[in-house]
Amino acid sequence: MNQSSTLGRVVLVGAGPGDPELLTLKAVRAIGEADVVLVDDLVDAAVLAHARPNARIVHVGKRGGCASTPQRFIERLMESEARAGRTVVRLKGGDPFVFGRGGEEKSHLEALGITVEVIPGITSGIAAPSAIGVPVTHRDYAQGCIFVTGHGARKARADDDGAPQIDWAALAATKLTLVVYMGVGRVQAIQAELLAAGLSPTLPVAVIQNATQAHQKHLSTTLRQLAADIQAFGIGSPAVLVIGEVARFADKKRDLARLAEQSVEQAREQRAV
Ligand code: SAH
Repeated sequence: MNQSSTLGRVVLVGAGPGDPELLTLKAVRAIGEADVVLVDDLVDAAVLAHARPNARIVHVGKRGGCASTPQRFIERLMESEARAGRTVVRLKGGDPFVFGRGGEEKSHLEALGITVEVIPGITSGIAAPSAIGVPVTHRDYAQGCIFVTGHGARKARADDDGAPQIDWAALAATKLTLVVYMGVGRVQAIQAELLAAGLSPTLPVAVIQNATQAHQKHLSTTLRQLAADIQAFGIGSPAVLVIGEVARFADKKRDLARLAEQSVEQAREQRAV
């Protein structure tokens, strides 16, 4: 047998935003064919129900109290398993190519002569607004939307990790909906930059945490109140910020800010009785 016929392959699979029903049929098939599954921490455990009982499952995430698995280790593991003739599925939250390092992994493995297949997934920047009723390109309000990482926002502290700076003023000038990934930790800086760029303090913003999962929560606010409300309502990662007029469509019934207002009103009414 020549080498190519014994070589395995790597499939970069988008696991979608969380709800296992939002996996694609293609993703389910690939997971079911895998000898080895490498799982990121944003992937819901229920997704693994599609793996074969004897598949090797390796968690390579950054959360759950474990230190993050070095990228080089992950790449070596994929390489050695593929060279041993195995089918490796690399499961990533959302889409593997949207802030998911899928591009780097694909180039790296292909340079080593390993076949890489990519299965797209529903990215959280699409799923999160949609799950709370926000149409990111509602034609009356936005002619497009921008996916941007919050990681490049300027940090107040000196321990900046050197992430490339984002030109928030240029983004603000587009008037397009801004969908910010990884933005919760830098929300103060993002808010300050966008206000300084001239966006209205009353511009609607929606924040969605754990979108499409049982513990999903969201908050409607304004640009002026954004950082304060994220803190007040205890919103943490993973969350997506949707900044723009379209955020006014966020579902009111389950909105944390609205629910809080209602309970204050109820308490007032009870006191008045
Ligand atoms: N490849 C992923 C993104 C990975 S970066 C995708 O396509 O969705 C990690 C960031 O994604 C988080 O900081 C958060 O901003 C966002 N994210 C991922 N899953 C999410 C979810 N279920 N709800 C809200 N945000 C989510």
